[in-house]
Amino acid sequence: MRGNRKKSFPYIKFLEGEDDPYRVDLEDGSYCTECGILYTNKNWKLNASEEYKKKPIICPACKKIKEDYYLGILELKGDFLKEHKEEIRNILKNEEERQRAKNALPRIGKIEETEDGKLIIYTTSVRLAYRLGKAVYNACKGDLTIKWSDGEHFTRVYWNRDI
Ligand SMILES: [Zn+2]
Repeated sequence: MRGNRKKSFPYIKFLEGEDDPYRVDLEDGSYCTECGILYTNKNWKLNASEEYKKKPIICPACKKIKEDYYLGILELKGDFLKEHKEEIRNILKNEEERQRAKNALPRIGKIEETEDGKLIIYTTSVRLAYRLGKAVYNACKGDLTIKWSDGEHFTRVYWNRDI
């Protein structure tokens, strides 16, 4: 059927990690002295108990945030956003928490609000910017666009809804 097609997004294969300049090989039991996350069983965990924390390091996400180096940018705009800003900030926060329960490393580094009412969200991973954009899209509809650059290791995600 032409017209009225439900918008779907292409399957995205994330190459995350492989070419991330902040990637490091870590020992099990490494933990971040800045944000407290623990690296164990090849995954990052929040709220790990002290007994598992063996080797102090600074995690790649904290390094990126310190150096203002982000792999994903999500830009939200439109009249709908202006009227639902708090609600949308909560969607972002909840989705970030949901994603970090699976892998604690990626996170939102900062959120900027521009003079014309846009929200710009900077993430330490490509995948998180995409996930956040999708969460806003799923909750609020509107239009979601994904643009890759830098050999697909950096992404910009745009969401827009006018009332
Ligand atoms: Zn950290």
